[in-house]
Amino acid sequence: MAILAIKGGTPIRTKLFPAYNNIGKEEKRAVMKVLDSGNLSQFLGAWHKDFYGGPTIQKFEKDWAKIFLSKYAITVNSNTSGLFTAIGACGIKPGDEVIVSPYSMSASAVAPIIYGAVPVFADVDYDNFGLNPESIEKSITPRTRAILVVHIFGNPARMDEIMAIAKKHNLYVIEDCAQAPMATYKRKYVGTIGDIGIFSLNYHKHIHTGEGGVIVTNNDNLAERCYLIRNHGENIVEPKGVKDAINTYGYNFRMTEIEAAIGIEQLKKLPNLIEERLKNAVYLSKEIAKLPYFIPPVVEQESKHVYYQQAFKFKKDIAGIDRNTFINAVKAEIPSAILREDTPLIGAGYVKPLYLQPLYQKRALHCSFNCEKYKGHVDYSKGICPIVEKLHFEELITLEYMRPGMSKVDLNDVIAAFYKVAQNINELK
Ligand SMILES: *Cc1c(COP(=O)(O)O)cnc(C)c1O
Repeated sequence: MAILAIKGGTPIRTKLFPAYNNIGKEEKRAVMKVLDSGNLSQFLGAWHKDFYGGPTIQKFEKDWAKIFLSKYAITVNSNTSGLFTAIGACGIKPGDEVIVSPYSMSASAVAPIIYGAVPVFADVDYDNFGLNPESIEKSITPRTRAILVVHIFGNPARMDEIMAIAKKHNLYVIEDCAQAPMATYKRKYVGTIGDIGIFSLNYHKHIHTGEGGVIVTNNDNLAERCYLIRNHGENIVEPKGVKDAINTYGYNFRMTEIEAAIGIEQLKKLPNLIEERLKNAVYLSKEIAKLPYFIPPVVEQESKHVYYQQAFKFKKDIAGIDRNTFINAVKAEIPSAILREDTPLIGAGYVKPLYLQPLYQKRALHCSFNCEKYKGHVDYSKGICPIVEKLHFEELITLEYMRPGMSKVDLNDVIAAFYKVAQNINELK
């Protein structure tokens, strides 16, 4: 029997895995063209043809809408600002509630707060980690106005059931697709199933422009309101003759021509990058899921998971050791960091369930849940979402070894590390 590296044995591999970098000569050339033009942003915060931005922004938006089969694609400077825009466009106001997921990047829960509304956390689905429809239904009150769904890790949430609930209760559905570009649910792109969808182009995502985001919608009214929120709507409503000016004031969420130029090139690469990710994820999953205590996520029928991260449930009762012990042993066998030590390629859970953040625990806000317009009693106690707490604190393992750029040899080293730990698991008991 081999000695595990964590017990002083020889590790499977010490050479770092390749960094994920998909920026190449195409992006450089496109950026130089914009720089040579001297026109780095053509947006004007007034009712003028440049209210919609310059030529590169408009081309990027057209390309995005064409690929994602949506009527509108509206660029913004981040997914976060896109989520704020979507909440504002839906007319959400103080006293309203929005159902959100506790297992997401913090922005998807904080977005309602920006408009004075209250995020209400529903629990996640034990098998696909997105919002659970039964828990959504239980969280609805007369104050609920919208459901903010997250396709977490790139796996589509249970949209048929979520859309049916929304229809029954007359709610907007906002899809946070930051981790799920080109993921499909029953052959439809996520983001185009609800009323409005938002993608991220930050550095960590499948494709990126440094920072950036794109909103998609097929709804003319929501699109008009997004354009207003993105670009100083208060200056526009009067000359444009907009009747409903609620929530249309105040922001500069505009993307620059440089980012749009990068985005156009990145978008061309997206389909192949997704295919490579998928191929790597399937290769890893086939071997790792042979270990009886690793349970892969359930992907809905006729749907496509695009693997921003690859998550497994780890069953400690079957393994005989706990999750963190297993992870630490794997980390000793192979490098677990590419970019920085604090962005591991293998991790215990994802983010702490969001309602446990001080913002909610200390109710550290003047309005929103402390607002006199709010007539509900939202609960942020530990234990309100037992599934997400069990997943996060005990069971979930997230991997990023399926990134494009990993060779067969690299992937085989990952598999070898898992198997070495599995075959010598008694050393860890
Ligand atoms: C990355 C991410 C965001 C935030 O995206 P930014 O573009 O950085 O603002 C929001 N939600 C989810 C699920 C994310 O993964």
